[in-house]
Amino acid sequence: MPPSELISNNMHGLRVVTTPDYYHRQVQETPESELVNLAEFIPGIMLDIRYATAANLLGRPLYQQPAAYLRRPAATALRAVQAELATVGIGLKVFDAYRPYSATVAFYDHVRDETYAAPPWRGSRHNRGCAVDVTLVSLSTGESLMMPTDFDELTPAAHADFSQAPILALLNRAVLRAVMRRHYFQHCPDEWWHFDHKCWEDYDLLDLEFAALQA
Ligand SMILES: [Zn+2]
Repeated sequence: MPPSELISNNMHGLRVVTTPDYYHRQVQETPESELVNLAEFIPGIMLDIRYATAANLLGRPLYQQPAAYLRRPAATALRAVQAELATVGIGLKVFDAYRPYSATVAFYDHVRDETYAAPPWRGSRHNRGCAVDVTLVSLSTGESLMMPTDFDELTPAAHADFSQAPILALLNRAVLRAVMRRHYFQHCPDEWWHFDHKCWEDYDLLDLEFAALQA
C-alpha cells in the first residue's frame, strides 16, 4: 500500500482518496482495485447516466461525462449478470456506478434524508466503486422493462418490499434481484435499482473525476 501519510481524514473523519497519484499507486500494488469502465468491459451493457445530465433530482449535471466504473471484482460480477440475463434475451442498463464523494455530498445537501442519500459523514458504497444502480432492458428492442418506479423516485413505491405495483413490474424486479444476488450483489431495502457488491469493505472512498481514473 502507498504510505498512509499521503492521505488524511476529511472534515467528517472519513478517509477519502482525493489524488489521482494515490489511486494509481494503489492500483499498481493491488490490480483488483482498479475501477473498470463498464462500457468497455461488459458486452452490450447500456448506460443511462442521469447524473451527467440535468434529468436528476438536482436538476443539473453532477458529472462532466456519462460513464460507469466499478472496482474489478464488482465489474466482473456484473459482467456475469449480463451474460446470464442474455440467455433469456434481457440485458442491464446502468444509471450510476462509481460516484465521486463530492457528488454524494451535493446529493445529500439537496435531499437531506438518510433514507435516500448517504450522508457526508458516512459516504456511499458508490464512492467505493462497489455499488451500482441498474434496471433491465429487452436486448431485442433496447426498451426498459417495467419496474415499480422510475430511477431515483424516492417514494415507498421504490422500496424493495412494495407490493402494490403491476404484477409485471414485481416480476421484473424479482428477476433483477435474483440474478444480482447470485453474483453477490446485495439489494437495498429503499431503492429497487440499487445493489452493493460484497467487496465494498475492501476499498477506500474516492473523490476523483472519471477522467482522473485513466492511467
Ligand atoms: Zn445507488
